[in-house]
Amino acid sequence: VRRLLFMGTGRVEWEEVPDLALDGDGEALVRPVAATTCDLDVALLHGRVDLGATGYPFGHECVAEVLEVGPAVRSVVPGDVVALPFQISCGACQACREGRTGNCTSLRGLPMFGFGPIGGDWGGVFADLVRVPFADAMLVKVPAGVRPEAVASIADNLPDAHRTVAPHLTARPGAPVLVVAGGAESIALYAVAIALALGSERVDYVDHDPDRLTLAAALGAGPIERGDRLGRYPITVDASAAPEGLRTALLATAPDGVCTSVGIYYGDTTPVPLRDMYFRGVTFHTGRVHARSGIPEVLSLVASGRLRPELVTSRVVAWDDAAEALADPPLKLVLARPAVA
Ligand SMILES: [Zn+2]
Ligand SMILES: [Zn+2]
Repeated sequence: VRRLLFMGTGRVEWEEVPDLALDGDGEALVRPVAATTCDLDVALLHGRVDLGATGYPFGHECVAEVLEVGPAVRSVVPGDVVALPFQISCGACQACREGRTGNCTSLRGLPMFGFGPIGGDWGGVFADLVRVPFADAMLVKVPAGVRPEAVASIADNLPDAHRTVAPHLTARPGAPVLVVAGGAESIALYAVAIALALGSERVDYVDHDPDRLTLAAALGAGPIERGDRLGRYPITVDASAAPEGLRTALLATAPDGVCTSVGIYYGDTTPVPLRDMYFRGVTFHTGRVHARSGIPEVLSLVASGRLRPELVTSRVVAWDDAAEALADPPLKLVLARPAVA
């Protein structure tokens, strides 16, 4: 079987490896049928981010076909098409039972697919085979009628966007939303689409990139060029991954509003306007998504026809063309191949 390795800026390589086998009664072997780049993968491939490692199995966002399950697996059978969250979670520990699946305590560290040493030895999903532990807890069936390519980002970026707006729109139905974009490119656009699907009366989108501003407007957002004056919004999203974008989002958060930041600030001295936030009572949330928890709601939004993530997809390429396409990836590249069953 083959898998792709991340070799550095603009470089991925196929590697031939022996077949995988089940290693426990509760495991599954799956074959990715639609995979995509996370916004962080694109930043790595373009050299904007350096995690300090190369030569590791790459890719952590996919929809897969189940090939084989252990005798204890109850929820899926071979032939099922499933969402595979990028974080490993057991479903049974207290964190998992509370929906905090990104902080599952059954394994050490931050177990994830496709991150090399940071995520442990789980392999990547740009591969012919992936071994999935805790299959009953991890895997979520993709509803009939939902095309795998449309939800290739269900493993990470879609639930990441969902958590920035969904709980806050439940608390304040219809509230206006501001998305400050620029860094986490697809998450920002998914946040626009999800907020509108969940009934936000107005979503504004700030960016400096004309193509993304056009795409955001096509999704239904009010496009705002970075630097324009902003009003105040009860719900704001910082997907800029840039200190000035973070500041923009925080200063545009209305009294008692909530701002969620999905960008990773690698420096340890990113300024935060705390005085201003204090006098307006701003709630600020940063942290990793709990991917598994958000997946069912996103899938049902797509199944209902209210959310169309494929509108954010830049290009779909055949699996065999993945290495060339990943050398200089567009905003959202989807790798696709037919299921076996
Ligand atoms: Zn990711
Ligand atoms: Zn757990």
